[in-house]
Amino acid sequence: MKKVIKQLLEKSRFLKSIKVKDQLMILNYHRLADPAKKNLFDDGVFGPDATRFKMEMEWLKKETQIISENELIDILYHKKKMNRVCSMVTFDDGYIDNYNIAYPILKNLSIPAIFFIPTKHIIDRTLGWWDIAAYLVKNTQLTEAHFREKKWDIKNKEIATANLVYELKKMEPSRVEGYLLELSIALEVALPSNEIQGRELMSWEQIKEVSQKGITIGSHTHEHVILSKQTLNDLRFQIKKSKDILEDKLGTIIQSIAYPVGGYDHFDIETKNVSKDLGFKLGFSFLTGVNRFGSIDPYDVKRGTSQPNWSNLDLPLAFPDRIFQPVRNK
Ligand SMILES: [Zn+2]
Repeated sequence: MKKVIKQLLEKSRFLKSIKVKDQLMILNYHRLADPAKKNLFDDGVFGPDATRFKMEMEWLKKETQIISENELIDILYHKKKMNRVCSMVTFDDGYIDNYNIAYPILKNLSIPAIFFIPTKHIIDRTLGWWDIAAYLVKNTQLTEAHFREKKWDIKNKEIATANLVYELKKMEPSRVEGYLLELSIALEVALPSNEIQGRELMSWEQIKEVSQKGITIGSHTHEHVILSKQTLNDLRFQIKKSKDILEDKLGTIIQSIAYPVGGYDHFDIETKNVSKDLGFKLGFSFLTGVNRFGSIDPYDVKRGTSQPNWSNLDLPLAFPDRIFQPVRNK
């Protein structure tokens, strides 16, 4: 492993020469992989395993200044100047491996990070629709199903899941629950119990523990909804409810929100205005590129994600205007 790290660091020296100093690269993760554990849910949300994640964090620590939420607030609101390339680390969705795998590594390396929590998922012990859809496909014994008057080939579960997630992403949020219920009948698989779903998520005790040990907690809305599709009332409800619950549970002021899904189709000017109005100082988007100090919109702080095929993380730093997206066919 040491040899691999050395090779990566050597390679990065070439790119460093074209790296500029006014950049803030934010890496966002959802889950970290545990090769010893069988995954019952969506494989698409998994990032690196512990070994690779540790390597990425060590690289970030060596090559950049990893800043906290408060430092970014100081930079954007109080004109604090940085003279190094900066980075941040964030996690979305409140999965248990944020606590089991990421947190010990972050703590060990004294790296600040933000965990963004969809509050209803933690309260109800329920996962997002992408995980439920993947669970149903993974657990079905059928190779072909009749669903919504169509014959559906599910021999290749990876393709079937990808197609399903693609469909669900386009769907009106209020129709998703009914769709999953119908799917469960068509695939002859019972929906996973709250206990099975809850095992994949952090508990309030765990969230509170990390929040007292260097991890900042942010809002990821109450029900992980696509904010640009909400009415103004629902938009306010989703953002305010999550802030109120987190502040009540943790006894701290919540200053950051990560917009669910996070692309430019998923939040808009209204989202930004409501977030600001409700007292958030920072709003984070996703798969939107690398930030340049001096031109950061506090309500569209850009984030990217690490890629298994990157030989090193200098790539996004060297080419900040390119948007780095994961290779995912959905
Ligand atoms: Zn999310």
